[in-house]
Amino acid sequence: MKKFLKLYFCIILLLLMSLLAGCSKKKDIVTDSAYMLGTHLNISIWTDDEKEGKQVIKECFRRISEIERKMSVNIKASDVNKINNNAGNFVKVSEDTTKVLNKGIKYTEISSGAFDPTIGRLVKLWGIGTQEEKVPKKIEIDEALKFVNYELLKKKDNNEFKLDKKGMQIDLGGIAKGYAADEVYSILKNKGIEHGVINLGGNIYTLGTKVDGQIWKIGIQDPLEPTGTPMGVVEFSDKAIVTSGNYERFFIKNDKRYHHIIDPKTGYPVQNGIISSTIITDRSMDADALSTSVYILGVEKGLMLIEKMKNTECIIITKDYRVHLSSGMKNKFKIENDRFQIENHNEDNKH
Ligand code: FAD
Ligand code: MG
Repeated sequence: MKKFLKLYFCIILLLLMSLLAGCSKKKDIVTDSAYMLGTHLNISIWTDDEKEGKQVIKECFRRISEIERKMSVNIKASDVNKINNNAGNFVKVSEDTTKVLNKGIKYTEISSGAFDPTIGRLVKLWGIGTQEEKVPKKIEIDEALKFVNYELLKKKDNNEFKLDKKGMQIDLGGIAKGYAADEVYSILKNKGIEHGVINLGGNIYTLGTKVDGQIWKIGIQDPLEPTGTPMGVVEFSDKAIVTSGNYERFFIKNDKRYHHIIDPKTGYPVQNGIISSTIITDRSMDADALSTSVYILGVEKGLMLIEKMKNTECIIITKDYRVHLSSGMKNKFKIENDRFQIENHNEDNKH
């Protein structure tokens, strides 16, 4: 019995020692950047194995590149171009593209057509962010509008999609970056990474808490100042935070700003007073589609939509320096620049 007890204590001691050794292993930041999806990407993780950490981030970039090849309108053989070039016929696409298109269709319904994946003709016509950007003639906009209609995007089982009218074009610029961030998050999780920040051109995804167990503080870009100037801070862990703004892609002509978020009803960049809309939720693809949708819907309808959704919050900034928060944001957002003011909205409609 004595011998048994001795062995028992030895095992406990060994277990304790190995646990302590595990704790003392310091996790360091491993970070890497790339340029893909027409934007700057950065992934930072905290790990005790730098070499393995670098490999994991490389794998994430490879996955993003794979998603880009399937969903970019700038890549000839992409799934999106296959659908666009074969309008009138069903086209079989990858599982990845199917997931994004299905989500896009879901958000078209949720946003009553504000978010419209068939916006491609208008995006091309305006060319915002490209060498060809211009203010199109009204007649050109009216013509392009004839080819924007989510009801003519049809789907069948087995990953098949069809645009019903020749000349229609799908564009996934408002949602696919979110999918890419979700996929990166899954890779990191599967590799056992517990702390990280994914930043895909402003689509932020925080993985777990900070390495010291504290909640992440994420700066919200001041839409009126250069990139990197926050106007406020949100505190969240393990959430996706995505912003759509009029300062990301735009040009100015005759003192007027033309940006890249287009109202599918008018064919023009949305002008409703919003200059940025940020969504905080569990998955980045939802946050991405919703940030674009809320921007188009405007403050009132946008807030109403967000209040109806579970685990979803928003911060909308309007050009009069007002900040419109969903009801769950009240204690989670701090203004850091007092030219901005929080506008109080009725909280009664939180479901
Ligand atoms: P968001 O608000 O999330 O999205 C705005 C974008 O959504 C617009 O640019 C447009 O594409 C689309 N959109 C506009 N109005 C609507 C609407 N009513 N409904 C639905 N969608 C709408 N940029 C480059 O310069 N070069 C590239 O090679 C390039 N390749 C890309 C490949 C992929 C797969 C993706 C996802 C993006 C790529 N981009 C590229 C970037 C892209 O053009 C947009 O600038 C970017 O996705 C916009 O993201 P955002 O977060 O700024 O704005
Ligand atoms: Mg978006």
